[in-house]
Amino acid sequence: MQPLDPPMRRAIAERVRYYNELGIYDFYRRDSQISESDAVVSGSSINPETYTQTLAPDSDTMPVKKSATAPRTPEASILEVLSPRTEQQASDPVEALTLIREDLGDCTRCKLHKQGRKQIVFGVGNPHAELMFVGEGPGADEDAQGEPFVGRAGQLLNNMIKAMGIRREDVYIANVVKCRPPGNRTPERDECDTCSPFLMRQIVVIRPTVIVALGAVAAKNLLAINAPMAELRGRFYDFMPSGARSSDPSWQGAKLAVTYHPAYLLRDPRQKGEAWKDLQMVMKYLGLKPPQKTE
Ligand code: SF4
Repeated sequence: MQPLDPPMRRAIAERVRYYNELGIYDFYRRDSQISESDAVVSGSSINPETYTQTLAPDSDTMPVKKSATAPRTPEASILEVLSPRTEQQASDPVEALTLIREDLGDCTRCKLHKQGRKQIVFGVGNPHAELMFVGEGPGADEDAQGEPFVGRAGQLLNNMIKAMGIRREDVYIANVVKCRPPGNRTPERDECDTCSPFLMRQIVVIRPTVIVALGAVAAKNLLAINAPMAELRGRFYDFMPSGARSSDPSWQGAKLAVTYHPAYLLRDPRQKGEAWKDLQMVMKYLGLKPPQKTE
């Protein structure tokens, strides 16, 4: 068996890390009869079927690249780069989320890191939450405070959560991208594709019963469906994040509902009634009751 030279080892390790961040962890070893055209990583190839099933949103434009090709007979030690995600060794969700945050580090993976962000806004709330809210990205207040949904839209989200009969501390809140897009613009596809694997990992750790996608950007990124809000709302979707083990008997994925982003509701308060219908659907599923009014 020919040992791999160090540049090749580094290239393979980088490639595997890239797929891991996309939520792809399952690689299998091919026998020696594979064709030259198959994509191979360190003697283990990316299963095209698995790859298709676990694609990040909008990644239909991301075919397995020829550049993933590497020699088919690597030394065994290269397999150390295929070690599972760090959080899988954690004893509880708190530790697992900490490990994901450490893995994110002072992230420079997409261009948002150099477009004026003050800090990374990772996520906040109960690591054991039954209910998770996912927004699009941090705004100015969130960027300043390092916590999602703390500005005016955050106040409205707090009121929505309260109206469901629970507290903000009971849920977990995160965004598709963790750095503020300049001028509060919509995050671009490449930014969402780069950052969302970390959100997927958070979801896998938290294992919520229900996820509420706040706004079209969150919904489209989570569901990989390009449809208007009117079509996305009003129903549950079965959601299994990429990277999750569908064979895990303790969690078979979440129900996902879509509603309006609180910032949109601030601009068009007439839609609050529609958003409340979405939340009532979630409350019914979770068995939540609105708080009793006190005289
Ligand atoms: S948005 Fe996400 S991927 Fe981009 S720099 Fe920030 S943390 Fe990294």
